[in-house]
Amino acid sequence: MKQTKPKSVKIKISKKLQKKIRSGYPWIFYYQIQNRNIPGELGDIGVVYDSDNRFLAIGLYDPFSDIRLRVLQTKAQVELDNAFFQRQFRKALAPREHLPDQGTTGYRVLNGENDGFPGMVLDRYNDTVVMKLYTAAWFPHLEKVLPLIKETLSVERCVLLLSRHVQRTLPANYDFHNGQLLFGTELPGPVRFQENNLWFEADVVHGQKTGFYLDQRENRQRIGNMARGKTVLNVFSYTGGFSVYAFHGGCQSVVEIDSNRFALEAAKKNVQLNFPGERFSELSYRQLYGDAFKLFAELEKEKMTFDIVILDPPAFAKNTAHKKNALLAYTRLVKSGAKRTKDGGILFAASCSAPVNEREFYHAVDLGIKTAGKSYEELMRTGHAIDHPVSFKEGAYLKSIFCRIESTR
Ligand code: SAH
Repeated sequence: MKQTKPKSVKIKISKKLQKKIRSGYPWIFYYQIQNRNIPGELGDIGVVYDSDNRFLAIGLYDPFSDIRLRVLQTKAQVELDNAFFQRQFRKALAPREHLPDQGTTGYRVLNGENDGFPGMVLDRYNDTVVMKLYTAAWFPHLEKVLPLIKETLSVERCVLLLSRHVQRTLPANYDFHNGQLLFGTELPGPVRFQENNLWFEADVVHGQKTGFYLDQRENRQRIGNMARGKTVLNVFSYTGGFSVYAFHGGCQSVVEIDSNRFALEAAKKNVQLNFPGERFSELSYRQLYGDAFKLFAELEKEKMTFDIVILDPPAFAKNTAHKKNALLAYTRLVKSGAKRTKDGGILFAASCSAPVNEREFYHAVDLGIKTAGKSYEELMRTGHAIDHPVSFKEGAYLKSIFCRIESTR
């Protein structure tokens, strides 16, 4: 661990960016820095001044990231001491406090920049918390954050995950690795937790995200509430989140599609966890392993249709260069999904691609349904669950829509 005390780097930026930062935008890219007094090292504290030399923002400086500064706050030039992080942490906890009383012990505690902890995601799975870092600038400050987590959340352990970028660029004198235990007892294996009183397991080290797609909790509940007596197609099912809610809601059957065998196995386990002793026949619960686009062609050949079709694919566009192809893929997917939806049935489509904005995604959905030769009534547009607050435009990655599908023919 770095021993030297973090230094303060004075930063000047354009007037335009000053305005953006004032309105909540939390990033300063390397090419936006007009002036700085020292080069700055990992974990140094960046202090931004406006054109009149007044304090504007304080943040974490990362010389290895294109995002050179991540803003912690814009109120006052404060000391980044234990008390500061405690204030930020308590503020973030408040809107989540009711979740355990609703039978939810798996939820996001810190949603990065949106909760004043830029580049840090903290997900809680019952007595395990997972800290995922998107910037190594946190390492020199972890000693102030970890005791807070331990004491305030009373958890057994904290597991560290590192983004690919952090893993690639971490200097050798920083002794951290992906999957490391930051405090507490070793992980006993997958962690067990509840969402709305339903049980799930997540592999927090090898799974996707921090092991579970906590952001879709409210959409899963909406699907569960619509599911009674229905046949459900859960495309991109991962570890069966939507399926468990659909079964709990009394659906007739679920067909899952995913190209990850481990995820399909974990989905089966999650279903069993909630309905112990129940034997699901092939008619009521089936899994199709493979590429969703290809499997849609097979379902079409078999002329299979469903009352509810769920499309929750991975991010098709990780950056703007992939946006055009991503939109084409969404349209193609929605077209296939709409064709497999019975008249009067529900199509749920989601996009977690940050570069694709709401207007573009809903347009792709509209086009997809229409090219399937169907019409639709829009029931609702939804987004992230409450523990994934959004404080700036770019932070809103999840867009989703529920449509009632009708045939035009
Ligand atoms: N709906 C899920 C999350 C979906 S994540 C939930 O609520 O938990 C996206 C999933 O899509 C992953 O499980 C991934 O394995 C799967 N996937 C990615 N590409 C795929 C493809 N071409 N065909 C089928 N599944 C795919």
